[in-house]
This record gives sequence, C-alpha cells and structure tokens, in this order.
Amino acid sequence: MAYAGACAAYRLLHELRRHFENVQHQQQLARTDALTGIANRRLLNEAMANLNVEAKEYALILVDIDHFKRVNDTYGHDVGDDVLRELGMLLVAESEERHLVGRFGGEEFLIIMPNANRDEVTRLAESIREKVSTFPFETSAGTLHITVSLGACHSNDIEVDSVLKHADEALYHAKESGRNRFILAS
Ligand code: GH3
Ligand code: MG
Ligand code: MG
Repeated sequence: MAYAGACAAYRLLHELRRHFENVQHQQQLARTDALTGIANRRLLNEAMANLNVEAKEYALILVDIDHFKRVNDTYGHDVGDDVLRELGMLLVAESEERHLVGRFGGEEFLIIMPNANRDEVTRLAESIREKVSTFPFETSAGTLHITVSLGACHSNDIEVDSVLKHADEALYHAKESGRNRFILAS
C-alpha cells in the first residue's frame, strides 16, 4: 500500500516537472525570434523596460542592413534569410554576454548595453560595422558581402523611450550620410 502510494507520488512529481519544463520552454520560445534564434522584440522590450530601474547608465545600438531589399530582389527571400541568420550570430559573437542582442524587426537589430559608457558603445559599434563590412556571409547563393548602418544613444538620466528615439534618429543620419556608418547621438 505504502509502496503504491510512493509510486503515485513519484509519478505525480515526474508529471509536474515535465509540465514546468514545458512551460519554461514555451516561455523561452515566446521570447525568441523564429528565424535567427536570438532574442525577439518582446524580450528586447521587456529588457528595455527594466533598464531605468536596473542600470545607472546604459546604451542602445540599432543596427540596420544597408540596401537589404537589393539582396532579396537579386538573390531571393531565402538568401536574405540566410544573411539575417548569419548577421544575428555575428552580432552575438561580437557582443559580450552582459549585452542583449535581438532582432527588433525586419532587417533591424538592437543591442542593449547595460552599465556601458560612451567609449564602450563606440568601440562595439565600430567593431561591428567594420567586421560586417568584410565578413563573408555564406548563403545558398554563395558568399555575399553587406554593410550595416548603426545609430546609438547613451544615457544616464533619460527615459528609455527617448533613448530609443535618439538612437533611431542617429541611425537615420548614418543612412543619410552615406551608409556603412556609425553615429552616436550627442
Ligand atoms: P536601407 O539601406 O535604407 O535600410 O535600405 P533597405 O533596402 O535595407 O531598407 P528597406 O526598408 O527599403 O527594405 C527592407 C527590406 O527588408 C524589405 C523587406 O522585404 C526585407 N525584410 C524584412 N524582413 C525580412 C525577412 O524576415 N526576411 C527577408 N529575406 N527579408 C526581410
Ligand atoms: Mg535596411
Ligand atoms: Mg530597416
């Protein structure tokens, strides 16, 4: 009798553990970009909402592929997808573990840098810009080369919505001034 009870309790615990693992897995999927496997916009938004509470100073870097439409138009959407996947991996590899790299939408990526000073932002953004410009992107249509433009904003007192807006304006200026550029909002 006691043995049967123990078996039932064991089965119940086993089922519960599987249930919670499943829930955790679903939660992780809900925060992962299906194409690139990195953070999605939902996770990025959650992390940004916590920035004002957790980090004294921080920075946001927007990374946007230059003339990406041409890649799709020339080689097809699947090849464009290959480029997006590889760029996601490159950005994660170039960043540090304490940074959060995610796909913000389309061909635009966001890097959240908690506790970062302006020099660190410039160093990371410039190294990404340079690395991407020489990186051989391996796709089903062969090796491709692309460039990215980056806009960033560093803050120690502004609300995150404004920081994102300034980063977006800086990105716009980087595009306007010729692409393959990095601009840090002043
Ligand atoms: P710019 O240098 O001004 O950023 O030019 P662009 O061509 O990169 O920008 P534009 O906004 O004109 O085009 C973005 C393109 O990105 C168009 C859209 O089809 C493509 N795109 C967005 N999401 C995806 C995706 O998931 N996969 C692929 N293959 N393409 C995508
Ligand atoms: Mg683009
Ligand atoms: Mg874009």
